[in-house]
Amino acid sequence: MAMSIRVVAAAVVAVAVIEELLVLATVRRTVHGRLESTEKLAMRTARRSVPTSGVWPEEAYPVFRNGMSGVSAVVSFEPSSNGLPLGADDVVFRRNGRARRYVARIDRDGNIALTVPRGGTRKAALEFANSHRAWLLEEREKARCALDERKSRRLGPGDSIWFRGERVRLEVTKDWGRPVLLFADQRIFLSDEDTDLARPLKARLRALAKETIPPLVFAEASRLGLQVTKVTVRDQKTRWGSCSTSGTISLNWRLVLAPPEALRYVIAHELTHLKRFDHSPVFWRMLEEACPDYRVHEAWLEERQDELSW
Ligand SMILES: [Zn+2]
Repeated sequence: MAMSIRVVAAAVVAVAVIEELLVLATVRRTVHGRLESTEKLAMRTARRSVPTSGVWPEEAYPVFRNGMSGVSAVVSFEPSSNGLPLGADDVVFRRNGRARRYVARIDRDGNIALTVPRGGTRKAALEFANSHRAWLLEEREKARCALDERKSRRLGPGDSIWFRGERVRLEVTKDWGRPVLLFADQRIFLSDEDTDLARPLKARLRALAKETIPPLVFAEASRLGLQVTKVTVRDQKTRWGSCSTSGTISLNWRLVLAPPEALRYVIAHELTHLKRFDHSPVFWRMLEEACPDYRVHEAWLEERQDELSW
């Protein structure tokens, strides 16, 4: 019986995807709780909490409450900031049949999101959240500030961005009367001089990523003797990359902003998942063989997360 259940489950998740956290400010940390004893719980960073099933269970979706988006609905009135315990109105519950523990986290909309595992209750989830109340409120505040900042982030002439690991300045000039954006060795004609430069920049960088990243993945795969079926370059808000058991590797276009060595690290990381589909110590040892100074690159990406996530 148990065997057949396992077989069915395996069939359902035949193409599982393991995804890496971009660690944006809004998805910075997660608190986990076991069903049995919530007291023993340690806070962990989200990176270490990626589940071994290869599926990210607490995916943050846009949250709607009272017909309004989660952010605008809860910003104006926050009774829990006054020292009252967190109540059902202060949080967003997420049921997750696969979760084995209670999880409290700040989602990308700046809400306190509570995952209720199978067999768990909302009441226990709230008790768990309240045992970390101060920390959650503090993280929520930080997440909301970062969210406001990001929303208002526009790029104009004179601003700098990261590009291939270098800080480069955006310059707008005219070429035969047409506005043109210059940075590093790039040149982009603009449709309107007053436009927010982030949009045309994103389009160019994404095209550049699509052109340059896949060949690097295939080259690295052949060096490591691994089989990759497909490489996609995507606009992932919270991930550097992902790897599926079918051999598809997806990477974030923003990796062209990072140093080439950091990009190679993320590629090596995803490729290593083809051998080991989890984040176990064995996985990190394999990765270290493929990319000995991976910690340096991981730290680079993590330290500049906000500057890279426009
Ligand atoms: Zn990974």
